[in-house]
Amino acid sequence: MYTTRINTLLSRLPNEADGVLITSPENLRYFSGFTGGEGALVLSGQEKKLLTDSRYVLQAAEEAPDFSVIDTAETKLLDCLCACDFKTLAIEEENLSAHFYKKLTAALPRCTFLGVDETLLLLRAVKNDAELDLTRKAARLADEAFAHVLPLIRPEVSELDIAMELEWHMRKGGADGPSFPIICASGYRSAMPHGVASEKKLASGELFTMDFGCFYHGYASDMTRTVMIGKASEKQRKIYDTVLAAQLAALSAIGPGVSGQDADAAARDLISAAGFGPCFGHSLGHGTGLLIHERPTLSPRSDSVLAPGMIVSVEPGIYVEGIGGVRIEDLVIITEDGIENLTTSPKELLEL
Ligand code: ZN
Ligand code: ZN
Repeated sequence: MYTTRINTLLSRLPNEADGVLITSPENLRYFSGFTGGEGALVLSGQEKKLLTDSRYVLQAAEEAPDFSVIDTAETKLLDCLCACDFKTLAIEEENLSAHFYKKLTAALPRCTFLGVDETLLLLRAVKNDAELDLTRKAARLADEAFAHVLPLIRPEVSELDIAMELEWHMRKGGADGPSFPIICASGYRSAMPHGVASEKKLASGELFTMDFGCFYHGYASDMTRTVMIGKASEKQRKIYDTVLAAQLAALSAIGPGVSGQDADAAARDLISAAGFGPCFGHSLGHGTGLLIHERPTLSPRSDSVLAPGMIVSVEPGIYVEGIGGVRIEDLVIITEDGIENLTTSPKELLEL
């Protein structure tokens, strides 16, 4: 699997680069299997080297048997690159510090450097069966955690209490950990799309949004549900119904060949028509994988076109200051003829 990925990458290198330097934890893992997070891969037609420090040498040899593992106490990365004598080296521009880049250009004065970030993102956007299975499991753990917290949601319980229960339940099920800081936002705080759990206590008459997921063997899940503490007002119900209708419209619009812009419009047009256009500030969705935010993107500015094997979140929301917010998010796989929805938690408005 790793050899295929490396060969695909080498065949797509821009401007005939003759080598690649991989430095981000996600791409170290994607191209070698090494999960230590700190190290570098040097890849070319001739080279498959994994450099890391003594803390990880044994682990690297075990996880990445296809690579020659080099202890950086013996050979430094810059020395290794000098010895390879690359004419044009592809690098992860967004991952390299300015500090290291200065050293790199000083050590390799005749070498040209090219950013390969975009190529890597596009490569990772289409998942293989193993990646899809890990994502299915990560999504299932999130669904199970949601079912676990539903009976615990009531006035006087804090947002943090619920966030901890969600995390605990996912970890107990085998998750590596949460895929991002869990968002639990109730009442006025639910109008903040990214309100990380606070000590605020839930209260009757409030909307309560939970946005969470986990990593399972490295792969992320992501889901959001909004519930009502007590009875919904007419306005709260209208907001909820609009978001739900928009989410369902987007789910039926999405499939292979659909552009990220059209997918976004399927939800956004409906929200705008209901008069809430300015209250939906973020994009409709994003890919997931080894990172919580990957390609493709679903937004008014997206240049993505959906293809089988891609994973996207579908998460319209409406946020009204003073009243609160609603977001509903499912994670779906693009299939040959439509989608497979990985998020199975109920979506009708729950008044708890
Ligand atoms: Zn989310
Ligand atoms: Zn998301």
